[in-house]
Amino acid sequence: MSECETTEVADGVFFVSSGPVNWTLLVEGDAVTVVDTGFPAQLADVEASVRAVGRDPRAIEAVLITHAHVDHLGCAQQLSQNHGAPVFVHPEELAHVRGQVRESVTPARVLANVWRPGALRWISSIRRLGVASPARVDQPQPFPTPGALDCPGRPVPVPTPGHTSGHSAFHLPQHGVVITGDALVTGHAISRRTGPQSLPKLFHHDRAAATRSLHTLAALDADTALPGHGAAHHGPVADAVAPLLG
Ligand SMILES: [Zn+2]
Ligand SMILES: [Zn+2]
Repeated sequence: MSECETTEVADGVFFVSSGPVNWTLLVEGDAVTVVDTGFPAQLADVEASVRAVGRDPRAIEAVLITHAHVDHLGCAQQLSQNHGAPVFVHPEELAHVRGQVRESVTPARVLANVWRPGALRWISSIRRLGVASPARVDQPQPFPTPGALDCPGRPVPVPTPGHTSGHSAFHLPQHGVVITGDALVTGHAISRRTGPQSLPKLFHHDRAAATRSLHTLAALDADTALPGHGAAHHGPVADAVAPLLG
């Protein structure tokens, strides 16, 4: 198991950093929504993070996925089976989640294109977490209604395509928080810097759409961003995104 750091960024909103990737827990009473599920080998980490916020993993009512990359979809299938929780994604991401299409770059291509000190160490650490294992969910469900989802935390899906075709952020308007997945990050093992940024372009399936999605994030009423990689960002999200819009 990795050492996870859990921070309550707003009432009932817990940001969990496991190092290479983050996920978020939304807690209402005893019930929990898990947003993203780490790498395939992180089932024990995700369940431990739920216990760490004083809840039982059996109280997981829903699993939401920003997008179907292995570091976000990782243990969703197992988590869903263990606790009887449905897995919800944007309709455009369903085929990707089922493993019927692939919209991701290989570690070898990353290494060939984005050489950074520490990149090899990163590749070897994510290998241990199961980056090479297939991650898929057999029966994902599309978001059932427009607007806020009827699950703990009442997250509002925000379509933010580009990184993948059906990437979705999740807005928590009552808290001014947005979970940005990989549409906006604040750091990455292969990035030279920290702070709000886009992932390197080769990670994006559709670069133009990814930029349009930054405008979508900038338009949200939010002053905390919880990214898929890097630390939580506190400050108006519109200001964080503005320098990235070119
Ligand atoms: Zn991704
Ligand atoms: Zn990612």
